[in-house]
Amino acid sequence: MELPRCWNCNHQFVWKDLCFRIKPCPSCGESQYLTKGSRNKALLFTPICSIFIVAMIILDINNIITACITGVLLLAIYTICPFIYQFTDREQPFI
Ligand SMILES: [Zn+2]
Repeated sequence: MELPRCWNCNHQFVWKDLCFRIKPCPSCGESQYLTKGSRNKALLFTPICSIFIVAMIILDINNIITACITGVLLLAIYTICPFIYQFTDREQPFI
């Protein structure tokens, strides 16, 4: 897996520029917008996480274990999401 590149100058981003917030390209300064496909892939993690959390609550798993697993899931999402991103020059509609 490779980190995404700027749509304008092809500069390859580093992970820390994308993990919490998508920043403009450090090389050319252009704003980066997620493509519709990559945004949809990133959004797939939300229901997966929700199902895990609801399942742990239904199964009456210890709150501390639930919190730990939720933390690990969030960390995994923040780690993986930048590798899914692809950028374009303009914001694309959700649908
Ligand atoms: Zn650039």
